Amino acid sequence: MKTDTEFNLEIKRTSRKKTISFVIKNNNVQVIAPKTLSNIEIKSFIHKKSNWIESKLKENKLKEKIVSKNFESDERFLYLGKNYKLKFIPNAKNLIKLKSGEIQVCINTKKNSERKYREKIVQHWFKEKALLFLTNMTMEIAQEIKLNPKLVKIRSYKSRWGSCNSKDVITYNWKLIMAPTSIIKYVVIHELCHIKYLNHSKKYWNEVGKYVPDYKYKKQWLNQNTNIFEW
Ligand SMILES: [Zn+2]
Repeated sequence: MKTDTEFNLEIKRTSRKKTISFVIKNNNVQVIAPKTLSNIEIKSFIHKKSNWIESKLKENKLKEKIVSKNFESDERFLYLGKNYKLKFIPNAKNLIKLKSGEIQVCINTKKNSERKYREKIVQHWFKEKALLFLTNMTMEIAQEIKLNPKLVKIRSYKSRWGSCNSKDVITYNWKLIMAPTSIIKYVVIHELCHIKYLNHSKKYWNEVGKYVPDYKYKKQWLNQNTNIFEW
């Protein structure tokens, strides 16, 4: 079979099945074939399915890339919707800056071999930026639309982007800093409007729609792109 992707092929014979089936995990392709099928028939089946197998293998590769961040130089991270390359520079003191398309991380020479330490440094920077950016944007928009949030905070949420409680304290998921600004703006307005309506009623969505007419699209974008926020 011709594919550009390397993989391991395993053929399993079974008398319990009458049709051939494929299981693809990581870069392993398992073919489960009935005992009655000849080797030539199996080969021709695999050949017919080669495009589909190839695309599945590629998908798996992509997933691998997205989820397994090692916090090493040349890995890509999103910041305000733009792609940046991570670059570690051994240094006496820790310091991070955005420069020429890179997130340059000056990092303590003794500790930079530890993945956990590198992640901690990078995450700390993202959280700091998130708090600053989200506080500024929230206060600016709040003034424009005449609402008065008491406090803006950030935290790690597993499956939400923000919240607003009855004391008008707004909390955001710090990972929001990875999204494009137009998406962040929608989340900010979403939470601000909860100061007026602590629910998702029709009145509430009408209010959101006043400031973000295409809020439905933005909501959908966030639901469909959760994978890009994974570390
Ligand atoms: Zn809400």
